[in-house]
Amino acid sequence: MPRCYLALGGNQGEVAATFDRCLRRLANIREVCISRVSRFIETAPVGERGAVDPQRFLNAVAELDTTLPADELLTLCQRVEDECGRVRTVHWGPRTLDLDLILYGQEVIDSPRLKVPHPACWYRRFVLDPLVEIAPDIVHPIKQLSVSALRDRLLVRPLHVSIAGDMSPSQRESLIVAARTEFPDVVLTAWEQRSSWPVATPEPALILWFEGQRDSSATSTISDLPLATRLDATEPAEAPGVFLRHVLQAALNR
Ligand code: AMP
Repeated sequence: MPRCYLALGGNQGEVAATFDRCLRRLANIREVCISRVSRFIETAPVGERGAVDPQRFLNAVAELDTTLPADELLTLCQRVEDECGRVRTVHWGPRTLDLDLILYGQEVIDSPRLKVPHPACWYRRFVLDPLVEIAPDIVHPIKQLSVSALRDRLLVRPLHVSIAGDMSPSQRESLIVAARTEFPDVVLTAWEQRSSWPVATPEPALILWFEGQRDSSATSTISDLPLATRLDATEPAEAPGVFLRHVLQAALNR
């Protein structure tokens, strides 16, 4: 039976009561056996913040064993989300309950409906903090690092983050300058191959790969970046600056 990890999140209504209800509901499913649940942790919201401070999120992680195939587990989670009154109109907006399948054993699934490990789980403090509490040694099957090692990387200040990809140098520089102003505790650099770095330069905790206006001199691809720290930013629907902001908010938990 694969051992799975589900991330719970919410910031609307009585979130702790909603989490309890969701966990009771899952525990009543014959094919599901919940073995551990983290504390419910308060985290900073990711997304656009208006003048009024939005309600902070509660997050938790549950460990379970299941005989359900991964896609059926996802269907179950979506049903439980609906039953717990999830209403969502804005991406990153308020929600009563969000359930994400973080890990399904050591399986790697990449279908249109389901991506496991959850593509963002390895750099989000609101997932890693509760996950490390209950399963610090579990290994991320793609990054090949324990979840506690993934989290420790994000605790270093300043946090070193690099921007890579085939965007033009001016596009990349404007992305970096805008983010530097908003995140003074992050050192943002344009990615360079290790061999040309000064010896004392620490390795970035995250390297984001963007695609932009093709720079004809670019010869590298994302697969040239270190596996453990690279983040493919070519797919998100958000503009590069918005995506970068959301990644940094989630990585810093602030
Ligand atoms: P969200 O609204 O952010 O919870 O995303 C829900 C959508 O993400 C659904 O359409 C799911 O099919 C899809 N999805 C892909 N991978 C996962 C995953 N590992 N856990 C939960 N939803 C997923």
